[in-house]
Amino acid sequence: MHQKPDGDAMGSTLGLYHFLSQFGHEVKVISPTNWASFIGWMPGVNTVLDYERQTEAANELIKNADWIFCLDFNTLSRTKKMEDVLNEAGGERILIDHHQEPQKEKFAYGISDTSKSSTCEMVYDFIVNSGHAQKITNEVAQCLYAGVMTDTGSFRFPSTTASVHRMVAHLKELGLIHSPIHEALFDNGSEARLRFIGNVLLNRMEVFYEYNTALISIPQQDLIKFDIKTGDTEGLVNYPLSIEGIKFAAIIIDRGEERKCSFRSKGQFDVNTFARTYFNGGGHYNAAGGATYDSLEKAVDDFKTAMMEHKKELSTYTF
Ligand code: 5GP
Ligand code: MN
Repeated sequence: MHQKPDGDAMGSTLGLYHFLSQFGHEVKVISPTNWASFIGWMPGVNTVLDYERQTEAANELIKNADWIFCLDFNTLSRTKKMEDVLNEAGGERILIDHHQEPQKEKFAYGISDTSKSSTCEMVYDFIVNSGHAQKITNEVAQCLYAGVMTDTGSFRFPSTTASVHRMVAHLKELGLIHSPIHEALFDNGSEARLRFIGNVLLNRMEVFYEYNTALISIPQQDLIKFDIKTGDTEGLVNYPLSIEGIKFAAIIIDRGEERKCSFRSKGQFDVNTFARTYFNGGGHYNAAGGATYDSLEKAVDDFKTAMMEHKKELSTYTF
């Protein structure tokens, strides 16, 4: 999975883990980094290796693996420090992913489909198409549901196709209880996090109405003051989109080692290209991210300049 895994990255990987384990395969899941506490409930998460903490053990596993499934990322660099050992691995790499422009030459086999809502949906298809739908246990279902639900913004983004609803209906028929998953993901934060969000919306958000754009920029001192942990900033970028007329929202967070960016849009504005062009990033048409080593002030200035270059596309808004 990609670094700092979200619900889809961890859900798809653990879903596949619970599926493949039933065939007697020896399956190990490795995350390039640690993960947010809101993911900590997922069945099997305690068996996941954190590459940064268990580097030697993980390297050994990668070197000796026959098959390496790469889920929810398009380029090996999305695994950060794992990139080199993945590149040199003797086993075959298999891609299952829905991001644009995959590094095709790096994979022996794979499915890349940008029209898919989530990697979890793709793992579900993989299981069903392989003729083993009866192996969708409650554990598999919980993991896959978490990813398809979070990557579709709780079934609201345009990627929420009929096949997504059919998948969820199937999981429900198999006995999935979905409410506790929503609670575990969304109703599990700290008081400090909620107050941090209040502070951000009050003090750290700029709205540029003539561009239908809003930018949130967060200095590192805020993260320290409110004791903000991995994952606590997840979803913050979406808040400005709830303002009438806003079609492009951005967030830049000073994480110390780098300034991490997230971009979201509604309708016709390609944030994947925007992230690639200005912030060394990428992602999807309506959701992308990037990073820079420049200062927060410089990143904010660069963002505003880039925004102004797109006035024509941004100033028109239609639902
Ligand atoms: P998020 O903003 O939630 O971190 O990421 C949104 C989407 O953009 C995800 O699909 C994620 O994989 C992708 N993304 C986020 N950051 C980066 C980055 O630095 N580089 C690339 N290539 N994609 C990113
Ligand atoms: Mn995904």
